[in-house]
Amino acid sequence: MIETIKQIEGNIGFGYDIHQLVPSRKLVIGGIEIDYHLGALAHSDGDVLIHALIDAILTGIGSLDIGSHFPDTDRKYFGIDSTILLSEVMTICHSKGYKINNVSLTVILEEPKLADYIPIMKVKLANLLKVNVSDIGIAAKTNEKLGLAGESKAIIAFAAVSLNKIEK
Ligand code: MG
Repeated sequence: MIETIKQIEGNIGFGYDIHQLVPSRKLVIGGIEIDYHLGALAHSDGDVLIHALIDAILTGIGSLDIGSHFPDTDRKYFGIDSTILLSEVMTICHSKGYKINNVSLTVILEEPKLADYIPIMKVKLANLLKVNVSDIGIAAKTNEKLGLAGESKAIIAFAAVSLNKIEK
C-alpha cells in the first residue's frame, strides 16, 4: 500500500549578531530591558537577540539582510525599538507567503543571569512571531570567561528558524 504524504514546502533560516557592551547604554535582549551596568552600543536599541532573529527570518525567506532593510546610516532607525523592526519583518515574511514554525535562539553573555527574564522574552517574541510560546526556545550561556563575550566586552546571539509556506 502506498501512503500519500502531504508535503508542505519548508525553509530554514539562520542569523548571528554581536554588539559591544559599554557603559551608559540600556541592555535590551529579546525585547526586554535587562538590569545591568553595561548596554549594547548600536544605532538602534542594540537588541542582539532580535537582530539575529531578524536575519534568520529574512535569509530564510531569501530576502536581503537586516542592514539592507534597515540601514544604520538612516536617521529614522536611530534608537529604534527592535521589536518594531521585527514586526516589519513579519509583515515581509507573511507577504512572501511564509509563517514561522518555530525558533531556536542562543544568547551569549557572561553576566547577568537571564533565567528570570527568559519566560517574559518568550511571551513577547511569541506574540510578535504569531506562534505559541512553546515554539520559542531560548538558551542563555556564558562564554566561560573566554574571549569578547567572556570578558563582558560583547554580547553575541545566534538564531535558527523554521518556516513553512502558508497553504493557500
Ligand atoms: Mg545588531
